[in-house]
Amino acid sequence: MKINLQTDTLKELQDALDHLEKQTLPIQTRSALHNAKKQLGQFAQSHQLESDQGRLAALYRVSQSLGASLNLDEVLTQVMDAVIQLTGAERGFITLVNPENDELDIRAARNIQQETLEKGKLQTSRTVIQSVIDSGEGIITTDAQDDPRFAQQNSVIFYALRSILCEPLRARNRVIGVIYVDNRAQSGIFGPDDLDLLSTFAGQAAIAIENAQLYTQTDQALAARVAELETLSHIDQQLNARLDVERVLEIARHWAVKESGAQSGWAALCGDDSETLSLISAPHDETGNTKNRELLATLRENPAPIQIHPQDGQPAQFVVPLIHAGKIIGALAIIHPQGFTHASQEFIQRLAGRAAVAVENARLYQAVEYANEAKSQFISIVTHELRIPLTSIKGYNDLVRQGVVGEINEQQLNFLNVISNNVERMSTLISDLSDISRIERGKIHLDFSHFELRERMAETLTSLSHKLAEKRHKLHTHIPDDLPQVYADPSRLIQILTNLVSNAWKYTPEGGEITINAKAQDERVRIEIQDTGLGISEEDQAKLFTQFFRSESPEVREQIGWGLGLSVTQRLVEIMHGKIGFYSQLGSGSTFWFTLPTQA
Ligand code: ADP
Repeated sequence: MKINLQTDTLKELQDALDHLEKQTLPIQTRSALHNAKKQLGQFAQSHQLESDQGRLAALYRVSQSLGASLNLDEVLTQVMDAVIQLTGAERGFITLVNPENDELDIRAARNIQQETLEKGKLQTSRTVIQSVIDSGEGIITTDAQDDPRFAQQNSVIFYALRSILCEPLRARNRVIGVIYVDNRAQSGIFGPDDLDLLSTFAGQAAIAIENAQLYTQTDQALAARVAELETLSHIDQQLNARLDVERVLEIARHWAVKESGAQSGWAALCGDDSETLSLISAPHDETGNTKNRELLATLRENPAPIQIHPQDGQPAQFVVPLIHAGKIIGALAIIHPQGFTHASQEFIQRLAGRAAVAVENARLYQAVEYANEAKSQFISIVTHELRIPLTSIKGYNDLVRQGVVGEINEQQLNFLNVISNNVERMSTLISDLSDISRIERGKIHLDFSHFELRERMAETLTSLSHKLAEKRHKLHTHIPDDLPQVYADPSRLIQILTNLVSNAWKYTPEGGEITINAKAQDERVRIEIQDTGLGISEEDQAKLFTQFFRSESPEVREQIGWGLGLSVTQRLVEIMHGKIGFYSQLGSGSTFWFTLPTQA
């Protein structure tokens, strides 16, 4: 600004010298005047250069800091400071065009009272600003009161506006806002050079402002997406924690209403025939049955969200189908007197996708539960019915074998022994099946007590001794004297030991070794049954403990078995709060181990 005043002074001086030159003057004075004019001309030229350089230097200085920040408020403050510095204006502000409603938001101001800013009553000419936005061209007026473009404007007259400089902020061929500076009292403050300078600077400032705007938008959009994903993950946990269809729908309805800011909502499930739609979760009966049927029919024809706009006092509704494997399994709706934002409609659709999966999972789970229950009941009935005739076959077979009903020859004894072995096989199978069914139905009863492992081990090995002797197995047992008592069901422990030692016996060829070790470990006793038998391939190891699994290997298939022993054993150990595991190498033998607690 100082520079401009000096320029004006120089102009006035030059005019005065021109005027003097026209007078009749003595030769000496005329020559002195000529010299003075020449020097003044040179000075004016060099002064203009200096002034241009000064402007460029100032522009360079203020432009340098632009782009350092991506915070919109910071960028706007920087731009405002720079504009005041470059133009030397008394006051000014930056206004940005709101892309959603085309309104002007004043975002940064200098020397304008906060109160006037808040009230939106800016003591400036809106005509000036609007014409800059409309034309995309900057405006300069040295005295608005005399400027025919604005002199008639009420605001110009009312606020006594004189010098005004206004420049559009253009980014990607769009006016994103306006820089406005003015001086109310003085005229002739700004010159065309100021408009040029401001225009150059505004080009750079607009890019910096737009970058900050884009960054803020992206940042906000990202934060909103992250928040939504967090909510959805929370909802997923709740949806999948309860495998109950009605509960799943209630959770979905609750979140749909909560997150979309709806007034209420409902969730419905299609009947097995896909014709009926029954309301599962609705606090109020918002939709009568006829309306539901109509909705379902519409959804079935076109499985896309339905948007019902508010009409005749009826609220807006947004209804989304729950689709699984291309089939409608239900619907989720939210209700609001006015309507819904695009964001909440998108959220409901995402939620519906998740709810549909959870509903289907819950349905499948319920179906499996029913099937399992039916299977357990069937096994329970069959085992009960088989046990009675088997007991009688075994009893009479034993009587005949013992010769109670007459003498028997050797061949007859052999036949009776075959019957006896098969009856034993069948009763083991019935007992394993009945245990599984009882465990699955939670009906197994255990009698826990503290007792010594040694005694139960002896009992088990005695009952198996004739088998071990048959295959000339070497048996080693290591049970430390100070082994703590275990807390378990003694008869179930015998069942576990019998299963594991029998397997070691079955799957170890003649002359092999079976070693039993027991030791205390933390607050547990660990028992290991090691054999030098067939071992288990890696492929089979993955299937161990599964019901009815038996290795395909011919050596295994030679042995009698049903593939139920390990499964029952595992369940029993776990019910007694222990753990079970194994390690094995094909061809070298296997070690099965389990633990039992020492404390109740
Ligand atoms: P079963 O012995 O009646 O077949 P199990 O459930 O006790 O049923 O065992 C399942 C399968 O695991 C066996 O068929 C066998 O393939 C394998 N297996 C179990 N114990 C051993 C072992 N000690 N050595 C080798 N294979 C074993």
